Amino acid sequence: MTLRITHLGTGSRGNSTLLETNEVKVLIDQGFSGAQLEKRLALLDIDPLDIDCILLSHHHGDHGGGATICQKRWRTRILATERTANELGLDLKLTSYFASLDLIKIGSNLTLLPVPVPHSGSDNVAFIASYEGERAAIITDLGSWTDELVKHVYGCEHISIEANYDENKLNSGPYPYSLKERIRGRGGHLSNNQTGKFLAEVCTSATRNIVLTHLSEKNNSPHLAESTVLYYIAELFDGDIHISLQDGPEMAHYIGKTNEITTTGPLDKPVQD
Ligand SMILES: [Zn+2]
Ligand SMILES: [Zn+2]
Repeated sequence: MTLRITHLGTGSRGNSTLLETNEVKVLIDQGFSGAQLEKRLALLDIDPLDIDCILLSHHHGDHGGGATICQKRWRTRILATERTANELGLDLKLTSYFASLDLIKIGSNLTLLPVPVPHSGSDNVAFIASYEGERAAIITDLGSWTDELVKHVYGCEHISIEANYDENKLNSGPYPYSLKERIRGRGGHLSNNQTGKFLAEVCTSATRNIVLTHLSEKNNSPHLAESTVLYYIAELFDGDIHISLQDGPEMAHYIGKTNEITTTGPLDKPVQD
């Protein structure tokens, strides 16, 4: 049995990641419009009503902006911290709160552990999913990291993490100075170099696949992100590395006890915003 991980799309215009077991379908984040979510799920033959619940990392629009529409349209249950739920004005009848490091059990054998990460003015968490003795980390929107995060991500079989910007591109790019400072700050986003350094601390021989997510369309490019990160982990990691861009869904990844880890999703059609 496996846990299948599919990014429906990541970036500043919306993020959502689907986790599927034989029992449950769960989204981490819902930063798309209702129509966009429906379209992306349809490419996987999934109806929004099939989603058991949505867990939110934090309240920023590209992660939680599409949560209330799911509650209104499909009565979807949302799991979030109290602060995230309040910031988004969620329907509390369809909301369950969690606190950092509460172990969340979904179905009989999927658990998710929210681990706090530093990200400006928000209660952001990374999620560590555990299934059949293996673990997948979904980490996004963090300006730096903590020893606690390293401890929980260390040796995960799957790691999805943002590689938001290339330092040279950001420095010479069009953003105003104050915005550049915010992105670079402790509460901002990880650069390709920072993501590489973090991965060098947590990758082990157990790590089979890495997905780089939330690339800035102005301040990064897929080949820069991949080559920069690989520079830091080339000696440690011989699995697959992929990039998740804004238009998905993309290739699926698996954890759990199985041989089907190289199977891919069917998707090559981009979805237009
Ligand atoms: Zn954010
Ligand atoms: Zn974001």
